[in-house]
Amino acid sequence: MQFFNNYAQQLSSLTRSVKPLSLKGTKLAFYNSTLHDAIGLPEPLKDETQLLDALFAQSGTFAKNAVAQKYGGHQFGYWNPQLGDGRGLLLAEHVAPNGSLWDLHLKGAGPTPYSRSGDGRAVLRSTIREFLASEALHHLGIPSSRALCLLTSEQAVQRETQEPAAMLIRVCQSHIRFGHFEYFHHSQQPEKLQALFDFCFEHHFASLKQQQNPYLSMLKKVIEDTALMLAKWQVYGFNHGVMNTDNMSIHGITFDFGPYAFMDDFFSDYICNHTDQQGRYAFDQQPGIALWNLNAFAHAFLDYVPEKDITTALSTFEPIMLNHFYRLMCRRLGLVTDSNETALTPPYKETTKHLIFDWLQQLNKEHRDYNQTHRHLLNAVINADKQRLTDYFIDEQWANDWFTTYQKHVLKLNLDKEQQEHTLCTSNPVYILRNHYAQQAIDAAHNNDFSVFEKLLEALQAPFTERTGFEVFTQLPPDAEKGVPLSCSS
Ligand code: AMP
Ligand code: MG
Repeated sequence: MQFFNNYAQQLSSLTRSVKPLSLKGTKLAFYNSTLHDAIGLPEPLKDETQLLDALFAQSGTFAKNAVAQKYGGHQFGYWNPQLGDGRGLLLAEHVAPNGSLWDLHLKGAGPTPYSRSGDGRAVLRSTIREFLASEALHHLGIPSSRALCLLTSEQAVQRETQEPAAMLIRVCQSHIRFGHFEYFHHSQQPEKLQALFDFCFEHHFASLKQQQNPYLSMLKKVIEDTALMLAKWQVYGFNHGVMNTDNMSIHGITFDFGPYAFMDDFFSDYICNHTDQQGRYAFDQQPGIALWNLNAFAHAFLDYVPEKDITTALSTFEPIMLNHFYRLMCRRLGLVTDSNETALTPPYKETTKHLIFDWLQQLNKEHRDYNQTHRHLLNAVINADKQRLTDYFIDEQWANDWFTTYQKHVLKLNLDKEQQEHTLCTSNPVYILRNHYAQQAIDAAHNNDFSVFEKLLEALQAPFTERTGFEVFTQLPPDAEKGVPLSCSS
């Protein structure tokens, strides 16, 4: 099997070699063939024996080249230089047939020099949650790391209780975080910081090398990509939960899943992470925190970019984020199509913004189910089922008035009906990853039954297509299972 180890070889002073440690009775529970095929991974990886050999045999392809990466990070606003891959290892890089580059990373691979007091392991519960969320996001069109396979074991590890340990191979463009740059900047290791930049320009931002100041161009690109990701999180009701700078990817992809949630009932200040008592990472704080994180990241550019240019670049985050946000919300509401974005131009834009603002404000006031309400709107437009939409709101009069204004606005926008329906259907998922579904998949997996996990994954991998046999994944949670705060311990 042909893989690359660019990071391990070119940046050996930024890593430590560590062999993955198998767990008792490690076995391949699930392999994501869709992802495998999409990036053209070598065929033998699909085979359990060959995969386990590559990972754990003395001279296995991955075993002999795996490294733990060093990084730091701002955790809940405080700088922590002591971080690094404490339980994950970079296994190798893969070049897809289209030339794109992919990291393979094993999570839960055992202790590393950066494990601090941790055991280097991941529990089955959190690997299943990461698997489902990363695939769900990807298939909603939200940039994310992805999950290639799930390895289970007969070994237990201690968390709040004893839990089965598991591992996951994660795939994404790279595992370089904001915290990598921050660490080599703050620890005053300019040669290592330079080496990291050089590596990024060679492998990840090659098209920017010819720019007048490639460093400024890279910073701008990270700002733009992060702004797009944030807009998408806000539009789809995704709460990441632990937006520390060590969990922020330089590629603007969702990364390092902890106690995340796709919101059920809409609470604009929703907090999915029960350890986040101040609500630093609450849903409505996410864009501001992303900018805070970009600012922390940008400090590493101070020797390369004039400060005023850094400030100007950072000031573009909010308008870029908001533009994406309005455009994507318009798609969810069926106010634009691929060929008609009149709703976003003057003089229509003001009414458009009001409609979006009133809509979200009412959802928040009544705490309506975020995804379900959008599905009701879709039905009101496509199937002329206005009643179900207005009935769904407590204040039916408000819903009636809003929908009347909406219809008048749509009429003025002169949208092609077929295209509008297409936009609505490709922007409003039938299936989203609700926490209670994930919990059902986990409960079954704890009894060695992966059928719920597989079925749920199948639904999430085609979220916009309604199919028979998947009805259970359209049901709303019982009240007791709504918005349950989740633990970080994974
Ligand atoms: P996370 O909260 O998963 O983003 O992790 C924050 C830091 O703690 C990273 O440096 C992780 O590698 C490390 N870490 C998390 N869990 C463990 C664990 N069970 N064992 C060792 N290190 C861990
Ligand atoms: Mg992390």
